[in-house]
Amino acid sequence: MKICQVWGDLSSEKSGENYPTDLFCDECFESMNPGKEDSGIVAYQDDDGSFGDTCSSCGKTTDEEEE
Ligand SMILES: [Zn+2]
Repeated sequence: MKICQVWGDLSSEKSGENYPTDLFCDECFESMNPGKEDSGIVAYQDDDGSFGDTCSSCGKTTDEEEE
């Protein structure tokens, strides 16, 4: 799991919606092309538990990912 800050709604006046931060599983993280020019990811860090244990994209949990 990775905690990722992604491109959101740039027209929003709330900074939390411009670059929302959420938890993503490794699979969804890789599908966003981390480090590439067309990546949907602004920044990322290792999961520290502060965003729960469920991928915000596909709903996979930390336990399921480790199986
Ligand atoms: Zn996922």
